[in-house]
Amino acid sequence: MSGAGGREYLAIPGPSVMPEAVLRAMHRSAPNIYAGELPDMMPALIAGLKGVARTHQFATIYIGNGHAAWEAALSNIVSPGDTVLGVMNGHFGRGWAHVASGLGVDVLPLDCGLKAPVTGEALEAALRADRAGKIKAVLCTHVDTSTSVKNDIALVRQAIDAAGHDALLAVDCIASLGCDVFEMDGWGVDVMVAASQKGLMVPPGLGFVFFSEKAARARARMARVSLYWDWTPRATPEAFWQYFAGTAPTHHLYGLQAALGMLHSEGMEAVWARHEKLARAIWAACETWGQGGPLTLNVPEVAHRSTAVTALHIGKNVGKRLRMWTEGEAGVTLGIGLGMSTEDDPLGDGFFRIGHMGHVNAQMVMGTLGSMEAGFAALNVPRGAGALDAAAQRLA
Ligand SMILES: *Cc1c(COP(=O)(O)O)cnc(C)c1O
Repeated sequence: MSGAGGREYLAIPGPSVMPEAVLRAMHRSAPNIYAGELPDMMPALIAGLKGVARTHQFATIYIGNGHAAWEAALSNIVSPGDTVLGVMNGHFGRGWAHVASGLGVDVLPLDCGLKAPVTGEALEAALRADRAGKIKAVLCTHVDTSTSVKNDIALVRQAIDAAGHDALLAVDCIASLGCDVFEMDGWGVDVMVAASQKGLMVPPGLGFVFFSEKAARARARMARVSLYWDWTPRATPEAFWQYFAGTAPTHHLYGLQAALGMLHSEGMEAVWARHEKLARAIWAACETWGQGGPLTLNVPEVAHRSTAVTALHIGKNVGKRLRMWTEGEAGVTLGIGLGMSTEDDPLGDGFFRIGHMGHVNAQMVMGTLGSMEAGFAALNVPRGAGALDAAAQRLA
């Protein structure tokens, strides 16, 4: 007899849990897109987005997922034949570089492995080697969701400055925005991409591109930018439709308005602190389990871990069975390993992930950890004792 009846919980790193307030805001008939409430709410919505990104510069919204935001951002700063430096700490760093290649851009890869962030030394050296100044932008994930590695974006900025390089700093915050501490203006980020379905707690379907004055000047020098991806009319619209180059994503905007309201009434510092507290409870449990068995956190250094997602390894004979067990017997779906195949584990089944981004609280975390404990017991997986106590201590 399964214990999975009752409300199911998707503990995967996106799409994340949608708050009731977001769902309620979206459950309505279509609004007029030419006048009234919807056009009127845009200035406050854009201000709310900038508040989450911690920028006073430009914000744009695209109908599309994170991949669309990747392409939108690149389309405004690089042309075919240009060069970018692609920092990679996993599947998503590689993915953004792949999109750049698809646009005819040459990517110089800076592969940092799967367990640690880029170092200032490596980045500075790569930029100093570019004597001709060919590199137009440094592409970097804030958090690579596949490995849960978090790059130190302030350090990345310092390294670019230390090398005396003029490249734009473009950061993928799709997993981290609204979860991990991020300061677009404070850290000197030129371009930042995000999407609706992770820390922002809205269904998939909106991509966001934030950009600096410096990036706007780079856009102005471009020979041409595809009409649909061009960020200029979206960021500085003269008419409402220009925000979206056509029909607005009406219901997503209502959901987003509700989500931004929640984030700002909690306060960004409090939102970040909540993610940190919950993440530390998860890490405490996982480290305790690991003391007596095969479970390991993918990122050894605490300071290098994202507070939005945790990637774990437990061996190919257990990872998938554990996920199947918690989903089928406890109603909790854990995330699959992504892009983590190895020679002896081609499907990457030994890896899995816990998403703890967005609308997550202590009981959801304890429920997930308790379900994992039950799964380990059911599958006879050796593990250290006292993991749930360790997590509870972190929350106490
Ligand atoms: C989810 C994610 C993406 C891809 O977003 P899609 O909406 O699936 O296109 C890209 N980068 C990071 C860091 C992500 O977490």
